[in-house]
Amino acid sequence: MLNLVLFGPPGAGKGTQSENLIKKYKLTHISTGDLFRKHLGEGTELGKTAQKFMDEGNLVPDEIVIGMVDEKIHSTPGTNGFIFDGFPRTIAQANALDELMAKNNTQINTMLALEVSEEELMKRLLNRGKTSGRVDDQNEAKIKNRINVYNNETTPVANYYKQQGKLNSIKGVGSIEEIFNRLANTVDTKL
Ligand code: ADP
Repeated sequence: MLNLVLFGPPGAGKGTQSENLIKKYKLTHISTGDLFRKHLGEGTELGKTAQKFMDEGNLVPDEIVIGMVDEKIHSTPGTNGFIFDGFPRTIAQANALDELMAKNNTQINTMLALEVSEEELMKRLLNRGKTSGRVDDQNEAKIKNRINVYNNETTPVANYYKQQGKLNSIKGVGSIEEIFNRLANTVDTKL
């Protein structure tokens, strides 16, 4: 199996680049943000619980996120591998992911971390807010909170993978194709 973690701040381009990586390496996409939005759309209990955190740009509690990822992994047996997008976002989630992988006799092969300046992130997210319909993309204060949450709670996750020798920093500015080529070149060295 090939299991990748695609890491980076909100607006770094994880969703866009995931689509390309999935096609090239035939992976199953696990985006916790997308999974939560699906629950929200379907009006499930999990969706209702997550909504108040998401609307403010705060993290949904770890046990809820981890349970949802566990379920998604189990509902996709026989896949070539997974690409985790927007997960793990805390050290507790990173530990839980290692355990889930071990339970399935596999492991995370590598982490791809997209690097984008805060100024560029703000521009991209405000722009996305015009069409995405996402409450959390629509004002500067909410976006700023998401970037702060990322800086405070999520950046330690990069260090977690660095200690395992799995961190690859990738410049996330340029054309979609240029960035994809940087990502794919890195993945190819891990195959
Ligand atoms: P973005 O990366 O643009 O902020 P996502 O779609 O990844 O957007 O996430 C949207 C929201 O969903 C987050 O702000 C958070 O509330 C919630 N969320 C997504 N993934 C996680 C996670 N792994 N842990 C906690 N909360 C999460």
